[in-house]
Amino acid sequence: MRQTLVLNASYEPLSTVSLRRAVVLVIQHKAVVEHAHPGLRVRAAAVDLPVPQVIRLRRFVKVPFRQRAPWSRRGVLVRDRHRCAYCGRRATTIDHVLPRAQGGDDTWLNTVAACAEDNHRKGARTPAQAGMRLLSQPFEPTPADALLLALGAQDGDALPDWLSLPEAASA
Ligand SMILES: [Zn+2]
Repeated sequence: MRQTLVLNASYEPLSTVSLRRAVVLVIQHKAVVEHAHPGLRVRAAAVDLPVPQVIRLRRFVKVPFRQRAPWSRRGVLVRDRHRCAYCGRRATTIDHVLPRAQGGDDTWLNTVAACAEDNHRKGARTPAQAGMRLLSQPFEPTPADALLLALGAQDGDALPDWLSLPEAASA
């Protein structure tokens, strides 16, 4: 998908995000369009926007750019899109893959989003000990993910289905 450059409020380049995410940030008034694709617009019933190539955040955010994003429970839920790592249903809790009781740490690579039921079922065991399988491996958030975490992006930030984006024309 087309990428949009994100500038901090101070005009420093921060990262790139998908066009979809850029449009969400503009609609949520978290960013303004600095530079748009000539002639292309995002159009729907309630929205008419130029297709952003560069957006700038309205408020200055401190982003751990090119550093490791600090671990947080909320961050793990956002990274995993609130999906349980064991069954794919909605997750509201954090599971330590290697349980804390066995020396597991609060790190990106040792924690996954989990539904309360699977978290309880797994208890203080590893997935192997509990006979459970991870649907995907935990990972370190990219700088772009870290930016979205800093902006407080939530699962519900997806564009509504009725808002279609134009196909990317070669610039
Ligand atoms: Zn689950």
